[in-house]
Amino acid sequence: MHYLIKKAFKELYPSKEITFDAKIKYSKAFKGYNANVKYARNMTNFEFRLSYSWKEISDEIKIGLLQSLINKMFRTNIETINQELYEIYLKKIPKVTPKLECNPLLEESFIRINEKYFNGMMIQPNLVFGGKNFHTLGTYNYANDQIMISSLLTKDQNLLDYVMYHEMLHKKFQYKKSGKKTFHHTKEFKEWEKRYEDKDVEKKLQNFVRKEKLKKTFFW
Ligand SMILES: [Zn+2]
Repeated sequence: MHYLIKKAFKELYPSKEITFDAKIKYSKAFKGYNANVKYARNMTNFEFRLSYSWKEISDEIKIGLLQSLINKMFRTNIETINQELYEIYLKKIPKVTPKLECNPLLEESFIRINEKYFNGMMIQPNLVFGGKNFHTLGTYNYANDQIMISSLLTKDQNLLDYVMYHEMLHKKFQYKKSGKKTFHHTKEFKEWEKRYEDKDVEKKLQNFVRKEKLKKTFFW
């Protein structure tokens, strides 16, 4: 049992007994500040896998990271000061992480949107294409400051720009916490989203996704 995991667990559940073994592994396979946890179904053995970047980070913040993973694993939502520290740290990362990945098509889209809606003021995040996913058209990952866009959208610049804009708004507004809830699409976020030039874009996006799904059903 790794001492950090023990500390993290005991602070979350002081009266629970530790009935599992767990270790931390630093992995070079992860980019940025990613981390996850692997565990057996019977919950007796955990492996917390942290990107190499975590190695130099202070124990206080690492405990926060572990606690947020443990909370997810045990489906609890217990708040601690360490998790707060971890979240504060995450919000600072975009300013210190070097930009690693950048796809030219996505960079063009980013620059267009940045000029048009942000006065060119947004610092460029990592920009990558994901798979041909129509369930998730785009994501913004706070931990490694990365926008990922579904490869499906290479076919339509307007839709690509719109999803890019949405994800850039996530970078701009991050998230708000209120009690135990986390808000990603705040009122302010939605107001900004409405500024997108093409007012029919939501409809177009839905049609596009519908067609892609049909194609997949018939031609896969
Ligand atoms: Zn969103």
